[in-house]
Amino acid sequence: MIESTRPETPRDAWQAILDGNRRFVSGTPAHPRQDIDRRESLAARQKPFAALFGCSDSRLSAEIIFDVGLGDLFVVRNAGQVIAETILGSLEYSVEVLGVPLILVLGHDECGAIRATIDSTEGKLESKGEFIHDLVERIRPTVEAANRDGKHHIDDITQLHIQDTINELLTRSKLIADAVKAGKLAVVGANYTLSRGEIATIFTSDNLN
Ligand SMILES: [Zn+2]
Repeated sequence: MIESTRPETPRDAWQAILDGNRRFVSGTPAHPRQDIDRRESLAARQKPFAALFGCSDSRLSAEIIFDVGLGDLFVVRNAGQVIAETILGSLEYSVEVLGVPLILVLGHDECGAIRATIDSTEGKLESKGEFIHDLVERIRPTVEAANRDGKHHIDDITQLHIQDTINELLTRSKLIADAVKAGKLAVVGANYTLSRGEIATIFTSDNLN
């Protein structure tokens, strides 16, 4: 059965994410739910236990860093985890249709998109891509706000960007905000450290406290 090991509550889903990341960090992954039986059991429908909205960075491989399997995570990624209508639609789908009890917003250190935005604010961005500039413009307000507060280090800006991303998610999607208020959904923001493979929690919705 698909549901046999599925975490059903926000708290259980978050614990499963933390446990999986701990196994990955310590080099003792279980590689769960990646066999033929699992694949076949999922063919008719999926019931993931969490949605992940993260950066596209090739080192942020969702199922690997959380040591989960097929059908466990509904994954939405773009460079710098930047909110857009299609992202909000995908996350709303994961909540309304798939019933995930957790959305994890995941940034990471040394993010190329954030570095490009910092470069841009300093007039140093050398890119011909029209849409790269568009992406950078979406992160720019966070960098400028950080700078006004005297924060210039990429780690501080990354942390603020994760927080701003969650604020935008909860402000723009009534469906997601209502699910959080009803206690059916938790939203967590975390930062991933590339060298250690570890996540640090930056934000948790009240229903996880
Ligand atoms: Zn990145």
